[in-house]
Amino acid sequence: MFLVIGVDAMSWDVVMENLERLKNIAKLVNMGNAREIMLEEKPISASIWCGMFCGLLPDEHKHYSYVRDGEIVRREDIDVRFIWDILHEEGKKVYAVNVPFVVPPFSFGTDFKPVGFGLPTDEREWEEELERVTAKTKELISGKPDLLITVFTLLDRVQHFHWGEPCVIEWYMRVDEKIGEIVFETGFLSDYEQDEHDEHGDDRLILISDHGFCSFENARVRTLTAREGIKGDHSDRAMVVTVNVPYDIKRPQDVFFAIRKVIGRD
Ligand SMILES: [Zn+2]
Repeated sequence: MFLVIGVDAMSWDVVMENLERLKNIAKLVNMGNAREIMLEEKPISASIWCGMFCGLLPDEHKHYSYVRDGEIVRREDIDVRFIWDILHEEGKKVYAVNVPFVVPPFSFGTDFKPVGFGLPTDEREWEEELERVTAKTKELISGKPDLLITVFTLLDRVQHFHWGEPCVIEWYMRVDEKIGEIVFETGFLSDYEQDEHDEHGDDRLILISDHGFCSFENARVRTLTAREGIKGDHSDRAMVVTVNVPYDIKRPQDVFFAIRKVIGRD
């Protein structure tokens, strides 16, 4: 199985500075390869998640934001074939859960009801998203699909509202806990550090974010207008951790090619 866990707005610098508190991510970093993705394109969630799963640059897929000319952009408005479209057509068992390239986030092959229209805004909704995405992901893992893509969106909202506060790292820890449930408690990857003799067979993992975060003042691109209560905004410092993936992921689009290299075309 190929599992992609997306965490919107998981920032390379925050993770690296707090790695000893993020036990499961730390374990994955030790087992596989971790790197910072310094974005060349603008750190816009809609555009990056789209490119990650269709393999195209923003100028090619032309999906720049959730809203265009005052209308919410729908899946049908984006003229691309995503990795799930291609693999499904080839007869593979593929699921996508809560992928936020549109609002509400998009799911494929399964019914999933996004929390708060995909923009969970308070503690109760953040909790609910953690639980609901984790439960759905575990359920789908048990059916052993060829590819499962699943995304947590809450850290984006947490950091917009709370950047610089101690609770930010607490929410990272909550996400880390859920990553552990999904990756280790299900038995998807075995819970020990990889050495030369350890083989994961066909089980492959990508853990990736679309962008990082920084203070609102330091943001190169403002994704929200300045108003009271907005403390953080998107940074260029995204990240990726891979386990047993024979492809070097240097930019978001490489996720598409990494999956394509491993599944299908046989
Ligand atoms: Zn984002």
